[in-house]
Amino acid sequence: MPASRHPALAATDPELASFVADEEVLQARTLRLIPSENYVSAAVLEASGTVLQNKYSEGYPGRRYYEGQQNIDRVEALAVERAKGLFGVDHANVQPYSGSPANLAVYLAFAEPGDTVMGMALPMGGHLTHGWGVSATGTWFRGVRYGVAASTGRIDYDAVRDLALAERPKIIFCGGTALPRTIDFAAFASIAEEAGSVLVADVAHIAGLIAGGAHPSPVGHVDVISTTTHKTLRGPRGAMLMCRAEHAKAIDKAVFPGLQGGPHNQTTAGIAVALHEAAQPSFTAYAHQVVANAKALAGALLEQGFDLVSGGTDNHLILMDLTGRGVPGKVAAKALDRAGIVVNHNTVPFDPRTPFDPSGVRIGTPSLTSRGLGTAHMPVVAEWISRAVDAAAKGDEAVLAAVRAEVADLMAAHPAPGLPLS
Ligand SMILES: *Cc1c(COP(=O)(O)O)cnc(C)c1O
Repeated sequence: MPASRHPALAATDPELASFVADEEVLQARTLRLIPSENYVSAAVLEASGTVLQNKYSEGYPGRRYYEGQQNIDRVEALAVERAKGLFGVDHANVQPYSGSPANLAVYLAFAEPGDTVMGMALPMGGHLTHGWGVSATGTWFRGVRYGVAASTGRIDYDAVRDLALAERPKIIFCGGTALPRTIDFAAFASIAEEAGSVLVADVAHIAGLIAGGAHPSPVGHVDVISTTTHKTLRGPRGAMLMCRAEHAKAIDKAVFPGLQGGPHNQTTAGIAVALHEAAQPSFTAYAHQVVANAKALAGALLEQGFDLVSGGTDNHLILMDLTGRGVPGKVAAKALDRAGIVVNHNTVPFDPRTPFDPSGVRIGTPSLTSRGLGTAHMPVVAEWISRAVDAAAKGDEAVLAAVRAEVADLMAAHPAPGLPLS
């Protein structure tokens, strides 16, 4: 057995240490296409595992409820300054524990229970927290939903406007989890203005692309920007809320004391490091490469005969409709997993199947780009996906094993940031 990278953990709790070691091997050897995932750098990983963990810091820098904040205040203030600089916003709150609580804080800041809120429907590509029924946001608030046009697979802004003017929602969310196309923040802004709604851009998926200039920024168009820090932004699991100065107080009050207690200072440190990394020219190149790879992969998948929702992609994400291949999304996703290609099954717009057993698979290029794969690799990735999906249809495990070995070879040549060399 190789020496553990976590000797204290291995000595204290060998069972748990072995799970972590196995996960390191799994991450190293497989091709991760889940578009919401990434690999953090070794520096982010170190910052997230520091003694900052030991400190309680309810409040904000300079205004805490506990003493001994000399260093914690510097950490949080640095993260805030970096967020403001990177995204060009007046105000940033780096304390939300994750994307879902960040969005809940937005409701707390701007709406009362029972108010109408508007977001994209989950099966169309929206997020649970945009007022979907099974989420607290859809039971405590009255969620109304827009979608994409059946003919184009793209948001129908006229329909969004009609719904907003009919419903006059307190809050409108734009952004989602399965949207392969550019979000027109200016179009949403004029709709929200007409309807008298607070406009929130939830850029959880695309924050890194925005930071790197590979997707238009919502700054100047929206009231609040909500984002996770662990997707394309390549930071630790966490979130940020950013806004104009006029909303700063409401947002801060909603996060603490409205919703949360002490911030996770070790995560704040990791966020600060990730924001520093995202401000480097290499990250701009990364963000553009993510998009170039996604476009190349989409082209290669079309050549392999796959149907893609909206016909392709503008960003990091591709939504594949497998109906024409005769393989349900979940069956395909599980077969791809056995082939060393990690994806998630996903509904496609107007899916005739159920969310638990949908027609599609969602993939993306943030992780493979972090490993240094480029457009030249995308045809072979598409070919692996095609072979694995066809093998799933036939139950041909030998093909899946063969693909898995080929994937592991390529992954060995492209080690992931933060992971041990396999
Ligand atoms: C991922 C995501 C979230 C939720 O983030 P969690 O950290 O999983 O709670 C919210 N909104 C959108 C659009 C997302 O993609």
